[in-house]
Amino acid sequence: MDDDDVSARKGSFRKFLEHLSGAGKAIGVLTSGGDAQGMNAAVRAVVRMGIYVGAKVYFIYEGYQGMVDGGSNIVEANWESVSSILQVGGTIIGSARCKAFRTREGRLKAAGNLVQRGITNLCVIGGDGSLTGANIFRKEWSGLLKELAENGDIDREEVQKHAYLNVVGMVGSIDNDFCGTDMTIGTDSALHRIIEVVDAIMTTAQSHQRTFVLEVMGRHCGYLALVSALACGADWVFLPESPPEEGWQENMCIKLSENRARKKRLNIIIVAEGAIDTQNKPITSEQIKELVVTQLGYDTRVTILGHVQRGGTPSAFDRILASRMGVEAVVALLQATPETPACVVSLSGNQAVRLPLVECVHMTQDVQKAMDERRFKDAVRLRGRSFESNLNTYKRLAIKMPDDQIPKSNCNVAVINVGAPAAGMNAAVRSAVRVGISEGHKMFAIYDGFEGFAKGQIKEIGWADVGGWTGQGGSILGTKRTLPGKSLEAIAEQMRTHSINALLIIGGFETCDRIKQSASGTKRRVFIIETMGGYCGYLANMGALAAGADAAYIFEEPFDIRDLQANVEHLTEKMKTTIQRGLVLRNESCSEHYTTDFIYHLYSEEGKGVFDCRKNVLGHMQQGGAPSPFDRNFGTKISARAMQWLSTKLKEAQGKGRRFVTDDSICVLGISKRNLLFQPVAQLKKETDFEHRIPKEQWWLKLRPLMKILAKYKASYEVSDPGQLEHVHHRGHEEPAAI
Ligand code: ADP
Repeated sequence: MDDDDVSARKGSFRKFLEHLSGAGKAIGVLTSGGDAQGMNAAVRAVVRMGIYVGAKVYFIYEGYQGMVDGGSNIVEANWESVSSILQVGGTIIGSARCKAFRTREGRLKAAGNLVQRGITNLCVIGGDGSLTGANIFRKEWSGLLKELAENGDIDREEVQKHAYLNVVGMVGSIDNDFCGTDMTIGTDSALHRIIEVVDAIMTTAQSHQRTFVLEVMGRHCGYLALVSALACGADWVFLPESPPEEGWQENMCIKLSENRARKKRLNIIIVAEGAIDTQNKPITSEQIKELVVTQLGYDTRVTILGHVQRGGTPSAFDRILASRMGVEAVVALLQATPETPACVVSLSGNQAVRLPLVECVHMTQDVQKAMDERRFKDAVRLRGRSFESNLNTYKRLAIKMPDDQIPKSNCNVAVINVGAPAAGMNAAVRSAVRVGISEGHKMFAIYDGFEGFAKGQIKEIGWADVGGWTGQGGSILGTKRTLPGKSLEAIAEQMRTHSINALLIIGGFETCDRIKQSASGTKRRVFIIETMGGYCGYLANMGALAAGADAAYIFEEPFDIRDLQANVEHLTEKMKTTIQRGLVLRNESCSEHYTTDFIYHLYSEEGKGVFDCRKNVLGHMQQGGAPSPFDRNFGTKISARAMQWLSTKLKEAQGKGRRFVTDDSICVLGISKRNLLFQPVAQLKKETDFEHRIPKEQWWLKLRPLMKILAKYKASYEVSDPGQLEHVHHRGHEEPAAI
């Protein structure tokens, strides 16, 4: 990097600061309502981003109660007060339900306490109740200040100085029960807890041929139940939004016994805490157990998961989500004007967006209203496109239509795994096979990638053959890295022999979220971790964000000796504070010469007397293990979509002869911004760096400065795409959900 570059970088940094200065401003951050994993990551991001832009940030302990009580409940935070909390579940600043805040009197006290400290920016992390409260508070603010002045508690000058209260909300709730966001903070971690239990239960249920009824949280929202049912391939699921049809008792028993007849040794039934029937009468776990025992005589057990779901460490996804949202919340507060309504920062696909808080709260309340009024179709629709698509996918994959009811397509479709094995691949194959069968195709499995295909390792695969595949790691079909180039003739021959009309290739995902490295507890030590990914720095970058790392070296952002020097100096400075640990991630191919060993030796030498180093090459463990709930569902959904797309293309091509190669007959399906997108390979070719096997533009590079900011480097950060408010109902329901 030459000096011009440096000054350009500094220039853009300055410009960013001018744009977004928090000098003279005070932000209060609180967590309220039910706790959720990832809340700490959000608090940390708010504090650090706030300090970074020059604002003062105050912890408000114990939710609204602390705001009403004031005193030592409102304390200024510093950089170090949020150190080592990223990986901790729950919330270190406490959360409470507060009756007093529901009254104007309580809110008057709260306003007094904020004005006393000059806090006119509020960041609330909680559920819809907490956010509703925040909005009421904001609307009343000027009235409250007037009253405080009349009572002589504050003077006129203070009323003027603190005339407006800016409010930004972040949704922290394990239930994912808030309209306007694809994922709330804590949901993914709760899913991890549920899936851990389901996986454990499945092994014991298998041994004893048992039926398990598993009750998960969600008094009003069936998200956790639905998605865990998808992620473990449950036999039946009960949700508040989509009650079972009349006569469900008989249907469920038929389904369970059919599955047993297909040699399935266990049944899993998932029940949301708030499950109801079409008459709004609760359906309880005990009731379901009674039914299975009396009707089928199966050994049946009930497990109620309870608070386990709120516990444990936040997942990588939640840490990244909360960190992004926290930074975005501060930016939104600083950009707020008296005219901007209170907003919620949330996630749409892989994009951060801002939505008016009131709209989201109203829509969330509308879901409940729809359920109360037994308009269940509306309830599902109002939950959003992601919920709807999860439900449709679950129905398609769980319930097999009788063969004579499926119209035959006369098409043969083959599924193949290629490239490195990745967690979630088996879920994708299961989904493709089942959707394919339900679309009337004959499905074939190809074993051992293109190498196996060339040798004729291909066989028909049925509905029951893929049972139980969702939760298994690796690739059951077998995968090879060999590209088809060498054996095109043999492969073409196999395609002809088996009359394969379409081929679904599952592979090339090199993204798993299994990087977890806890460096806590050790003093003055820097961990240097090498991650996989070829030339793609995604894992190193996102892993760094999730783990709160100090640096991440990736191929996409070239670095030189000056950067290394700056990093070492940064760590030396850091060791002088109370945070005496460092974490550095290095993507395996980030640089030919600055190898992991080199970096380890450089840091060791330069850190002599100040810190010592350890290095760890994560290697193949990153591809191993059981897939996370996200990977299971992503694999399942994306594959179901791919199969549907193939069916449409096959139908279009029917009667057009044997050859129909068009530009869009070979596509790659993936998340692009907010949507699931089919991109023709011809087009992707232009966007791909073939030498390094990565896309020319990587969306997540935008998140890189985030890690640096949160690790106390100076970096500029691009705010949410438009940086403006959108409307919750304007987001296309017709588009397939990205996640
Ligand atoms: P969640 O935020 O998880 O939905 P609650 O509904 O219990 O949880 O709300 C948490 C807290 O937010 C309440 O204890 C109360 O202090 C405050 N709150 C909720 N609703 C309101 C409201 N309508 N007006 C004022 N404060 C509210």
